[in-house]
Amino acid sequence: MPPSLDPETKGRCTLSTNRPLTARTTYDLSFSRLPDDPFVKPIWDNQAQVKCKIFLWTTHKRRIFTNERRAQRGLAASARCPFCSSDEDVEHLFLRCAEVATIWHTFDLDEQQIASLPQLEGVWDIPPPGQPATPRVWRTILLAVMWNIWKGRNNKVFNSVDEPATLVLRCCASDIDLWSHRCKNAESKQQLRNWASYLSVINS
Ligand SMILES: [Zn+2]
Repeated sequence: MPPSLDPETKGRCTLSTNRPLTARTTYDLSFSRLPDDPFVKPIWDNQAQVKCKIFLWTTHKRRIFTNERRAQRGLAASARCPFCSSDEDVEHLFLRCAEVATIWHTFDLDEQQIASLPQLEGVWDIPPPGQPATPRVWRTILLAVMWNIWKGRNNKVFNSVDEPATLVLRCCASDIDLWSHRCKNAESKQQLRNWASYLSVINS
């Protein structure tokens, strides 16, 4: 429906339903007819900070600046991964690079299975191994892993610092512990703390 001017609202632009034309209504008008993205929950329904959720949304849209994307835009001379000779796209960076195999193995996940996933989003279909985790807790943990792989990769690219997998995992533990304070559900909070403790102990 096209917006119309309503004299009752002193000329403010409104919809024919008398809903003010806010950012929310504009968004609803623009996107309400599009199908829901099945990856909405992993991105937004977790305990991570907003900046991390936006990072995952950007990754899901394949808009993070991997070397492949940077090279396509003339921002890098090569699409090569900073850790190996393969091209660095999203799937390579988070799933297939030998650099991340240890990280997935630490979570008791089959690194070969992880590496063979056709897309990054497939990781969220794998149930949590070992310790208990509600779906929301597991989504939080997976986002901590992705976030810290990305930060470790950027430290290598921009600061020439090599972060060993143990350091990446300790950073994951620190983030998971921090994010547990945002959790209102006591059971979920305890699960996050247990995972943080587990990652800290095995990487100390
Ligand atoms: Zn690599």
